[in-house]
This record gives sequence, structure tokens and C-alpha cells, in this order.
Amino acid sequence: MNCRKATTLMIDYLSGTLDPQTRAAWNAHLYDCRDCTPFLETYQKTVEALRSLPSQEISLEARDRIRRSLERRLKHSSTAC
Ligand SMILES: [Zn+2]
Repeated sequence: MNCRKATTLMIDYLSGTLDPQTRAAWNAHLYDCRDCTPFLETYQKTVEALRSLPSQEISLEARDRIRRSLERRLKHSSTAC
């Protein structure tokens, strides 16, 4: 598991759709990675804010927006852990 993969899986992690094995690998990466941890916190807050909206599900548009911001982050990230 590297940062790119962990970031890509973040949305699935938070929506609880990861299989147990991937989830464990993801957790292990986040435990060690100083780059991903603060990002997860920010991301988690975004998701919670979206969840507090009247519609229960995160809309496709919101997911797209988040995914784009993740991709932007990956492009600017110089970390390769
Ligand atoms: Zn990382």
C-alpha cells in the first residue's frame, strides 16, 4: 500500500465498502504515514458535512468533487512512501 493507493481507497474506506483484507492494509498504511493521516481527518470532516445534509447518501456529484480534489492532491504531493 502506498499513498496513491491509500488516497484512492479513502472514499471506499469511509463508505465502508472495502473488503477486510484491503481495509487492514489501508489501516496499516495510515497508521505509519504522516502524510495521509492529516488528510484523512480533513477528508472525514468533508464527508461528515456532506452526510449531515438532508439527503442520506453522498451524491455522485459530491463524490466526483472529492475524487477530483484527491487527484489534485496526488499530483502536488511529492511524497512517495
Ligand atoms: Zn500515505
